[in-house]
Amino acid sequence: MPDLVVAGGGMAGLVAAARARELGADVVVYEKGDRPGGSMLLSSGVVWRYRDWERFREECPGGEPQLQRLVWGRLDDDLAWLESLGVSVVGREAGNPLTTGFRLDPGKLTETLASHAGEVRLREPLTELPEGIPTILATGGFQGDPDLVRRHITPEAPNLVLRANPWSAGDGLRLALGRGAELSVGLDEFYGRNLAAAPQISPGDFVPLAQVYARYATIENLRGERYEPRTWSEIDVVQWTARQPGARARYIVPDAALGEHVRDRTVTDVIEAARRAGAPIEQRNGETVVEVVAGITTTLGGIRIDGRARAAEGLYAAGADAGGISTGGWSSALASALVLGKLAAEDAI
Ligand SMILES: Cc1cc2nc3c(=O)[nH]c(=O)nc-3n(C[C@H](O)[C@H](O)[C@H](O)COP(=O)(O)OP(=O)(O)OC[C@H]3O[C@@H](n4cnc5c(N)ncnc54)[C@H](O)[C@@H]3O)c2cc1C
Repeated sequence: MPDLVVAGGGMAGLVAAARARELGADVVVYEKGDRPGGSMLLSSGVVWRYRDWERFREECPGGEPQLQRLVWGRLDDDLAWLESLGVSVVGREAGNPLTTGFRLDPGKLTETLASHAGEVRLREPLTELPEGIPTILATGGFQGDPDLVRRHITPEAPNLVLRANPWSAGDGLRLALGRGAELSVGLDEFYGRNLAAAPQISPGDFVPLAQVYARYATIENLRGERYEPRTWSEIDVVQWTARQPGARARYIVPDAALGEHVRDRTVTDVIEAARRAGAPIEQRNGETVVEVVAGITTTLGGIRIDGRARAAEGLYAAGADAGGISTGGWSSALASALVLGKLAAEDAI
C-alpha cells in the first residue's frame, strides 16, 4: 500500500508527488489523460505573485485571505525548491510591473517534475477515494464538464471554447463532496481568454489567438451592447463575454491602437494571427472589428480547503481543485498549484 495517493499528474499533482517522495514517501499518481502535465504543459509557464500583498488583496478581494497569504508568502521559497529539482528558469521576471516570478519552459517543467514524481499511471483516472490512505486531489478544476459550467457559471457553457486540457471535468470536486468536503467561495468565476473566433481552435492556438488588447478596444456583444473593461488582466472581459449570446463579442480597434504593445507582440500582430486562422475580421473606416469567443482555462471556485490544504479527514486539494484564492480577480494558478501541492504533501506525510 502506498503512503500517499495523488489524483492528477499536472502542476499540483506532480509537485505534491515529487515533494512527498523527497520526504521518503511511497506515492502513486493517477492520471486520467494519456500524458502527464495537464494544462501546465499547454501554459505559458509564468509562475507569479503580486509584488505587494495589499495589491493582491485589492485585485482578488473575494478570496480567502489565509490561503492567499500562504501562496504569496511561500512562492519565492517554493520557486527556489523547484530550481533545486533541476527545473531550468527561462526568465526571472513575470513580465508585468505589478508582479514578480519566474518564466519556465512548460515542456521541461513537466519532464523534470515527472522524473521526480515516481509512478504516474497514465489513462487511470481516480474514480473512488481509497480507504485509509491520505489522498491529494489535483484534478485541475471543472471547466471540462459543460454541465457543471452551465450550473455554476453560464447558460452559454456549450458555446465556450475549452482552453485547457480535456480531462479536468470536476472529478476532484465530486470525490471531495462525497467525502463531506465543502464548496469554496467564487464557484461562478473562471480564468480564461477571449480567443479570435476562428473556425478551428486547437491547443497550439490557445496563446497565439488570445486577444489580449481589450483595454485599447471598444467591446460590444453581438447585439451591440457595450462593456467597459475594468481589470489589467482582462479577466472581467472574458467572464462578461461568456455570459453574452453565443459567448461571443466584438473588439472594435481604432487604427491608432494598432501599434500598441501587448506582451511581446503588437496589437497588429495579434490581429494578423487571428486573420490567418480565419477568424471573422471586418475592416471599417479607421477601425478593425474582430469577433471573439470566450475560452475557459480554469475554474476559480471549487473545494474549500484550510490552511494546510485539507478538505476533509485524510483528504487534501491543490491546484485548480482548491477554490477561493483568486476570487474577484486573477492570480497565478501555477503559483497556487505549486505552493498548495507542496504544502499538501508536507502535511500528508
Ligand atoms: C494556454 C494556457 C496558458 C496558461 N498560462 C498560464 C501562466 O502563464 N501562468 C499561470 O499561472 N497559469 C497559466 N495557465 C493555467 C495553468 O496552466 C493551470 O491553471 C494549472 O496547470 C493548474 O494546475 P493543476 O495541477 O490544478 O491542473 P493541471 O495542470 O491541468 O493538471 C490536472 C491533471 O489532472 C488530471 N485529471 C483530471 N481528472 C482526473 C482523475 N479523475 N484522476 C486522475 N487524474 C485526473 C488531468 O488529466 C490533468 O493532467 C495557463 C493555461 C493554459 C491552458
